Amino acid sequence: MIPTVEEICIKEIITINIEQTLEHTVTLMAKSNIRNILVISDTDDNIYHMFTTKDLIELKLQNISMQTKLSQLKLRVIRQIDAKVSVIEILNQTTVDNDYMIVMSNNKLVGILSQTDIINNIDPKILMKKQTIGNIMLQYSAITIYEDETTIDATKLMSEKHIDSIVVIDQDNKPKGIFTTKDFLNLIDLDCDLSKSVKNFMSAPLQTISYDTTIFDALEFIRKEQFKRLIVVDTNNKIIGLVTQSELLRLVNNKWMEIIKEKGNELSKINEELIAKTAQLELKASTDSLTKLYNRNKFDSMVSYEIHQVKRYNNRSLSILLLDIDDFKYINDNYGHDVGDEILQEIARIITIPLRESDIAARWGGEEFILMLPETSTEHAVLVAEKIRATIQNHDFVQKLKITCSLGLSGFHTTDKYIDLFKRADEALYKAKHSGKNRVEIGRL
Ligand code: GH3
Ligand code: MG
Ligand code: MG
Repeated sequence: MIPTVEEICIKEIITINIEQTLEHTVTLMAKSNIRNILVISDTDDNIYHMFTTKDLIELKLQNISMQTKLSQLKLRVIRQIDAKVSVIEILNQTTVDNDYMIVMSNNKLVGILSQTDIINNIDPKILMKKQTIGNIMLQYSAITIYEDETTIDATKLMSEKHIDSIVVIDQDNKPKGIFTTKDFLNLIDLDCDLSKSVKNFMSAPLQTISYDTTIFDALEFIRKEQFKRLIVVDTNNKIIGLVTQSELLRLVNNKWMEIIKEKGNELSKINEELIAKTAQLELKASTDSLTKLYNRNKFDSMVSYEIHQVKRYNNRSLSILLLDIDDFKYINDNYGHDVGDEILQEIARIITIPLRESDIAARWGGEEFILMLPETSTEHAVLVAEKIRATIQNHDFVQKLKITCSLGLSGFHTTDKYIDLFKRADEALYKAKHSGKNRVEIGRL
C-alpha cells in the first residue's frame, strides 16, 4: 500500500559531468528548465553531487568565472537511499528543505527523489481538510522587495536570508510578482544586466491564494499549477506569508504520521482483542466447564502429540490412568446433583495434586477422569495411581461424605496406537470395578 522510493522517484534524470564548466552547466539547466542538476564523475562513480541555482547565486556574488569547472567547486554530496525503502521511512528522515536524494539499486542509479515527489504521492484526502493555510502562516512570513530595486539587490537579499524566492511588491505593498532563483538562472544564461530593477525579470502576475483556503485545497492548487511555493494573502490582497511546498509537506507529514500511528495503535488494539478472544475461545473449546480440567478433545490431541514424541525418541515411557468414581449414581440419587457436582470438582482438584508439570489431567466424561503421565514407567504410574486412590478414600468430601474410586492404568508399548493404550487402561479399570472397586489395576504388560 505504501510505495517504495523506487516507485515514486523520477527516472529521467539530467546529469552533467563534473569536468564541465559552469557556463555549460547553466546553459543545460536553463534549456532543460531545471533548478538542480545531478553531477556525475567518471573517476568516482560512488559519489554524486548536486549543483543548484542557489549555488549559482553564491558563485555569482563571489564573481567566480563561468569557465570554472564543477570539479573545482565545493558541491553538496547528495544522499543515496536504497530503492526498496518505503516513502514513510524517508518522510521520517527528511528534514532539510529541497532535500534531494538519489535512489540506488544494487549500486546503480535508479532515479532522483525530492520532497515534491513525496508530496505528490501522499493522498491529500487524509490531510487536514479543515485547517486553513492562514492558521499556519505565522511561522512563514514572506520576504519582499519593492519592484524598483535592482535585481542584484534582490539576489543579495535572497542569499542573505537563505531563501530561493522573493515577492516583489509595489508602493502600496501589493504583490506584483515573484523573483526566484530560477529566474536568476535564466538571467545568467542570457547574460542580462543585473543592475536593472527586479520588476524587469520577475514572474508576473503573481498567483496568490487566500488565507482561508484549506491545506487540502492548497495542496491541490500546488499540484495542479505545479508551483513550488504558495503566496498567501488576506482579504485586502495584502501578503500574509509565503510557504514552500516543503514546509507544507512537513506539516502534512506530521499529520500523516500521526494518522498512521493512530491507525497502527488501533490495529494493534484490535489485534490484542482478537488474540485474547481467540485464547478465550480456545480455552472454552478445550476445557470442561465444571471441573476446569481439559476435556476429552483436548486430551486426545495432547496424547496423540505425546505418542508421536515417544515414537520419535525411543526409550521414552508413557502411562495413562483412567479413573472412575465408585457408586457415584448413589451419591447423585441420595444427595442431589449439586452435591455430585461439588464432589466432581473436588476430585478434579485432588487428582492434579501429585502431578508433574508435564502430566495432563482431563475429564473423560460423566464421573470419569483420565491422566497422561509422560516419561513415567508403569511401576511409577502405579505409585501415582495408588496415591490418588488413597487420598480420595481418606478425603472428607462435602457433608463429610466418603468417596472411593477405581483406577486402571496402562503403559505405552512401542507398537501401540493411542487406541491400544487406551483399551488396556479401560480393561484394567473394568477389572478394578469387578474385583471390588476402590483399587488400582494394571493393563496387560
Ligand atoms: P460404578 O461404581 O460402577 O462406576 O457405579 P457408578 O454409579 O459410579 O456408575 P454409573 O455409570 O452407573 O453412574 C454414573 C453416574 O455419574 C450417573 C450420573 O448420575 C453421575 N454423573 C455423570 N456426570 C455427572 C455430572 O456432571 N454431575 C453429576 N452430579 N453427576 C454426574
Ligand atoms: Mg462411569
Ligand atoms: Mg462410576
